[in-house]
Amino acid sequence: MLQFLLIFSVACVHLHDQVGRADLAVSGPPLQTVVRVFALFGVVAAITWIIQALSGLSMDRGSRRAWTTSHLTLEASRLVGLALLAWVTFALGWVDAVRAFIGDYVLIDEVAACLPYWLLIAFGWWAHEPLERRSREAVLARDIDEGFPLRPIESRMAYLWSNIRQQALVWLVPVLALSAWSEGVDKAAEALTLEKGSGAVEAARLIGSLALFVLAPVAIRRAWKTVELGPGELRDRINNVCRTHGVRAAGPYVWSTPGDGINAAVVGFLHPFRYLLISRSMLESFANRPLMAVVAHEVAHLKLRHMLWLGLAVLATVGLTGWLLTAIDYALPPLRPFINEATAAVATLTAVVLVFGFVSRRFEWQADAFAVRHISKDCDADTHVSATGWGAVTGALTQVAMANNMSMRRWSWRHGSLADRCRRAKALHGRSTSRAFPIDIQAASIKVLTVVVIVASYAPFAWLAFAAAR
Ligand SMILES: [Zn+2]
Repeated sequence: MLQFLLIFSVACVHLHDQVGRADLAVSGPPLQTVVRVFALFGVVAAITWIIQALSGLSMDRGSRRAWTTSHLTLEASRLVGLALLAWVTFALGWVDAVRAFIGDYVLIDEVAACLPYWLLIAFGWWAHEPLERRSREAVLARDIDEGFPLRPIESRMAYLWSNIRQQALVWLVPVLALSAWSEGVDKAAEALTLEKGSGAVEAARLIGSLALFVLAPVAIRRAWKTVELGPGELRDRINNVCRTHGVRAAGPYVWSTPGDGINAAVVGFLHPFRYLLISRSMLESFANRPLMAVVAHEVAHLKLRHMLWLGLAVLATVGLTGWLLTAIDYALPPLRPFINEATAAVATLTAVVLVFGFVSRRFEWQADAFAVRHISKDCDADTHVSATGWGAVTGALTQVAMANNMSMRRWSWRHGSLADRCRRAKALHGRSTSRAFPIDIQAASIKVLTVVVIVASYAPFAWLAFAAAR
């Protein structure tokens, strides 16, 4: 969720630039605007802090709901903050006030405009840390009982920094780099008196953006604390899963996640800028089969090219939304006054978020099914899905929830709930491993639909460009 909010905050400032300043801003004197904006964000921060502090006190008295309340307020403060940023940008002339002070340089004014919101997010982590500490301390007793390896609990500042680094910068740096590149290309085109939107300018924009996409994982792996896993039996077992499915990824890397959470991921599109990351706590605490199920799940994302298809699905959604808006504009004249760049952008973003979640959850289920098949074939040499197969996956998911103090029913936009994923893995019991599972057919249909929509929505433009060139 956080990554979308951060991307939207940058998008919000860009949208303001596109819509035009004078139309919307009711600008007061710049200094007054700055004071008002910081005061408004300060109020949200103060309320967040008070609720976190009160939740901490009631947690000490044994309240079970305090933990949930503190998480919900944290998420609510981020949503309210984003709404506030949009409001001050469009109604208070905030971005103009920022530019009155620091001018319109590539990236710097955008960063300054988003800063109150980003500071609010960082403050949220700081305010929430005492609760996180209480939960870590509670788990500590269990870890001692169970004989798990113990790690020192981070200081408040270290907790704050590792969250900023691993949850915020990791998304913001690539997004800001893309935005800086695009703005830089425009400024360079202006300086060279090239026509805006001409072939050369757009080609430079596209090539630079693609290069950033391919290279961003190098920065991401560094932003996340990672160390390559040394040679040995564990490394061989993990690499074997990759080799079985003919997938190449650098690593595996031991990943120190914030709060030592249990997690695994693949980042990157192209070898050798593509990495397999497994959190240190997962490598230490997982038994062989659940761990191999997790690796197989990540391998599935690579082998089935989920990232690429997710990107294409987003592209298809943008194309389709454009055509739907054009159709509404054409067929429903009374709605025409409401269709402009701002509403179109909001409609497109909403559609993109909805489709992204829908497709991402299905790809997640397909990766789980892939892992079930892998373990069934690998461990039982079975032609049908065995209890060992789905058990390894449900075991891994349950352990993730346990170790991260997370409810199995907690629902996430990208992954759905763990309980639901377990149910789906279990439902594969007895199916033939050589045939496609229902989720494979669903994923294949998503891919076909994506291609059809992309061709149908972008072909007219290609044809127009071709006709114009002739
Ligand atoms: Zn996954």
